Amino acid sequence: MDTVFAWDGGFVTGLDSVDEQHHALINLFNELNAALLSPAGSDETLLADIYARLLSYAEYHFREEEGMMMRFRLDERHVEGHRMAHQQFVDQVRGQGNRRAYMGNTKAGTALIDFLTSWLGLHILGIDQSMARQMALIRRGLSPGEAYERERNSHDHSAQVLIKMVGKLYSALSEQNAQLIDANLHLEERVARRTRELEDANARLNTLARTDALLDIANRAHFNEWLEQICALARRAQRPVGLVMIDVDCFKRYNDHYGHQQGDACLQAVARAVKSCLRRGTDLVARYGGEELVAVLPDTDAEGAASIARKMVDAVRAVQMPHADSMAGPWVTISAGVCSQVPNSGEHGASGSAALITQADAALYEAKRQGRDRCVAAGPD
Ligand code: GH3
Ligand code: MG
Ligand code: MG
Repeated sequence: MDTVFAWDGGFVTGLDSVDEQHHALINLFNELNAALLSPAGSDETLLADIYARLLSYAEYHFREEEGMMMRFRLDERHVEGHRMAHQQFVDQVRGQGNRRAYMGNTKAGTALIDFLTSWLGLHILGIDQSMARQMALIRRGLSPGEAYERERNSHDHSAQVLIKMVGKLYSALSEQNAQLIDANLHLEERVARRTRELEDANARLNTLARTDALLDIANRAHFNEWLEQICALARRAQRPVGLVMIDVDCFKRYNDHYGHQQGDACLQAVARAVKSCLRRGTDLVARYGGEELVAVLPDTDAEGAASIARKMVDAVRAVQMPHADSMAGPWVTISAGVCSQVPNSGEHGASGSAALITQADAALYEAKRQGRDRCVAAGPD
């Protein structure tokens, strides 16, 4: 097994239970390292499990050590620093464990384990050994304060200073580490948020590009695209497509009489009434031009299409918008030309859509000719 942490005689504190627990911790680190380097290194569940065991064992060990320090009544100055070091270690392990991205990345994972194991090694060599020495002095009859002072002024002063300095270095590093992880997390969040915003904006733009701003229904471009698609599908399946061309009656006079603004509002009401007659999700009503609308009715035969067109004419009349200057009656009315056929790729263009438009247009012209406020169905070819 690849070991990142080899036991060294210098680690022995002489406190049996502490030494035993240090061994167990080191074994867990080596297990984690081996798992990261193995082919199963990308197995997040396995890594998460080892991380969890490592964390809970470290917490158990630190509790044991802190209990021991209490029993020996070690000087509070030592106990406080020691506790803080434990907490820092737990925070580090927990922080890394939460970072799945690191866990899946072998290189980053082993670098972090290196960091944690060096940290632990230094901790044992420094503060744990100091704790063990103070306990030994207390056993020999010194007071906790005396033991602490003796430890501080020990002959091995330069080594203590060195260990302290490296300890500080590790503290600074762990702090930076934590900040980096935090920054990374926030960066990911920011990127995800921006992506969502962009997608939303894109979706809004798409909708805008396909919608008529005044009438809030599909525009001419969307109608063209939709009709082509529907005709291509219908031709393949040999199913009929219904088309209704709609034109508001005497609308020029309406504008002249009521003004353009009311003309706009009138068109909106007409669009709503026409739209309310559609039943299927695939039916589409679009603004074809000025005061002309068009409805595409996929998979609808002549009878079905004519019945929907009649409903539309009735629905607009039923709104009872006064039109004082209309030749067709007291209300705003529409004329509709309707047709239905299986699109064919004959002389009228590839998908057969042009033939539908020509027929519906001719029928609309006939409806106007017959006196408006009505629907006329295209005759057979
Ligand atoms: P017909 O019954 O024969 O269809 O008579 P019409 O007056 O409706 O026919 P025409 O096509 O001559 O007039 C259409 C009018 O629709 C002219 C135009 O000013 C008006 N119009 C087109 N688009 C809009 C619009 O967005 N808002 C308003 N208020 N009027 C519009
Ligand atoms: Mg017109
Ligand atoms: Mg008109």
